[in-house]
Amino acid sequence: MRIMDGHCDALTKLYHNPKLDFDKVELELDVSFPRLSKAGVKVQCFAVYLSESIANPSFDHILQMIDIFHRKVASHPGMTFIRNAADFQAAESSGQIGAILTLEGVDALAGNMVHLRSLYYLGVRLIGLSWNYANWAVDGVMEPRKGGFTLKGKRMLKELETMGIIVDVSHLSEKGFWELFELYGKPIVATHSNCARLCPHPRNLSDEQLTAIIKRQGQIGLTFVPYFVEAARTPVRISDLLKHIDHICALGGEEHLGFGSDFDGIAQWIEGLRHSGDYQNIIEALCQNYRESQVERFLYGNWRKFMLTNLPR
Ligand SMILES: [Zn+2]
Repeated sequence: MRIMDGHCDALTKLYHNPKLDFDKVELELDVSFPRLSKAGVKVQCFAVYLSESIANPSFDHILQMIDIFHRKVASHPGMTFIRNAADFQAAESSGQIGAILTLEGVDALAGNMVHLRSLYYLGVRLIGLSWNYANWAVDGVMEPRKGGFTLKGKRMLKELETMGIIVDVSHLSEKGFWELFELYGKPIVATHSNCARLCPHPRNLSDEQLTAIIKRQGQIGLTFVPYFVEAARTPVRISDLLKHIDHICALGGEEHLGFGSDFDGIAQWIEGLRHSGDYQNIIEALCQNYRESQVERFLYGNWRKFMLTNLPR
């Protein structure tokens, strides 16, 4: 079974701890080459996320993390860098693991469109507009004022649409979410969010939001953050995650769901899903509950179709 994963924060860990080796099994690193390889992950998105411990986040910090991505991940002999649809298909036929470079939160771009376009030149192909709080462009989901886009943020959306950078709504405020649907015409992705109906956390999406993504031919990456899966009790199990799959299928999203683990961005885990190498446990659970063609779509096929349609030619 092939797998694609829409979100991880391994670059953040590699940035903060230069001793971590992407080529080794490291206790501290959920996503590493041996683990991806063991599990059958064929494509992994790597997010540039400047953690709150960085006092004055700047474009230079983004460049440092992109440098780490190129030096430690994309240049690994078993990995290949995906910038367009042809790269995606080449990764499949080469047997290498494809890496897609993403940005989580535009905060450090500080409204600079030259910097935004430079990210495209450096290979960033998917951008999460906010992290949890407000930035110059838009509010995140935990910002108490619950605002939408600024004028500069709206201009940025036009630029993203023109360049062909995919927009990610995970972490975005609800007002921002609905404004985005007015202002931006292309398919939209939520790389790491679950269903609010089943687990009412602000990071999860309402049925109306999920349906809007599905109707827009978008993609929802269900995430392994345990408290986004099941709020009422621990341990959270893989069977709890499957309920989110059923819910999205009931909303008509069977061809628009996949996974976005958030590995290396979490300090708690679903039972049996401690790192990328544990994807086998999900495969087993899926195979017990769905047809093989569905399992293939959830793990890989839906992401594949979304990426081949929405990455640049
Ligand atoms: Zn996140």
